Amino acid sequence: MKSGYLYLLVHPSDPDLYKVGQTTRHPEERLAEHNSNYKEYTGQIVKETGQKWELKTCIAVTDPYWAETVFWGATPLGAIPFRQGIEVQKMEWEWVEAGLEAARKAGVRPPPKPLPDHVYAYTAWMKKRLEGRGITLVGHVRSKFGKSDFQCSNGHEWRTVPNNVAEGEGCPQCGTGKKDSEEIRQAIKPGILCLLVHPGKSGVIKIGLTYSTLKQCYEENFWGDWEVHRYRNVEEPVLAESIIWELLGYPLSNDREPIHIELSIAEQAFRDLIPRMQSEIAFKLRGCIPLVSDGNYILCPQNSTAHSRSVKSVG
Ligand SMILES: [Zn+2]
Repeated sequence: MKSGYLYLLVHPSDPDLYKVGQTTRHPEERLAEHNSNYKEYTGQIVKETGQKWELKTCIAVTDPYWAETVFWGATPLGAIPFRQGIEVQKMEWEWVEAGLEAARKAGVRPPPKPLPDHVYAYTAWMKKRLEGRGITLVGHVRSKFGKSDFQCSNGHEWRTVPNNVAEGEGCPQCGTGKKDSEEIRQAIKPGILCLLVHPGKSGVIKIGLTYSTLKQCYEENFWGDWEVHRYRNVEEPVLAESIIWELLGYPLSNDREPIHIELSIAEQAFRDLIPRMQSEIAFKLRGCIPLVSDGNYILCPQNSTAHSRSVKSVG
């Protein structure tokens, strides 16, 4: 980031007409350009009136773009989203003063907000399913059923629903990366974590983890008399299992034997499971994969917020 100036030009033809600009060069240089380049809006005014812009004031600023943003934000015109790059405006002097005052104090733009945990989790989810398919995710996945950008190894780019690509859809132009959804599933081995209850035993639950589908589990009578009361599809079954036991307040080392616990507490643990998993995945990824946020910023791992690893008490 280069420091520079926020400058304010006035025009003799109209006392309320101002040109606000920012530059990393000297404002006098920009003034000369505004008075001589008739292709620009400021130059057209010079041409039409025969009068030149004058430098009213300039402020040295550390972050010129940010200072200009702050200037407009401090005026009643701040709500106008798109200034067409002209920044010539009729304004009351009070507005200008408020803008200049704010620009003086603007400092450096604040760091971008870290991406939410679920964006990291969905991005990781997507990347797993693209492995070896010749398709690259461009940016990140905010929602599995929203839109994300993809690129194939032939250079085609497209925007589509991430879940469709996750389930095997290939490049719409050349077909690269098209794959059977069952093949993808087998390569990834996602699991299903189940909260099991027994019709004859109240106050007792079991946790079941399977890499099969629930249908297969029932067909094979996998859990005997135990019934699936709640379940979650889990991307990282091993991590999911360790987290669910942590949420239940039991060590995983109990060989998955039934435990005595109130059903409502176990149900709450299942509600907490996915957000906790996303938080763990985001925590891991923030450390090693910087994701590009929606702006032009790179998320710096050092700047990400401290992650709390405190264990939630469950009764
Ligand atoms: Zn292609």
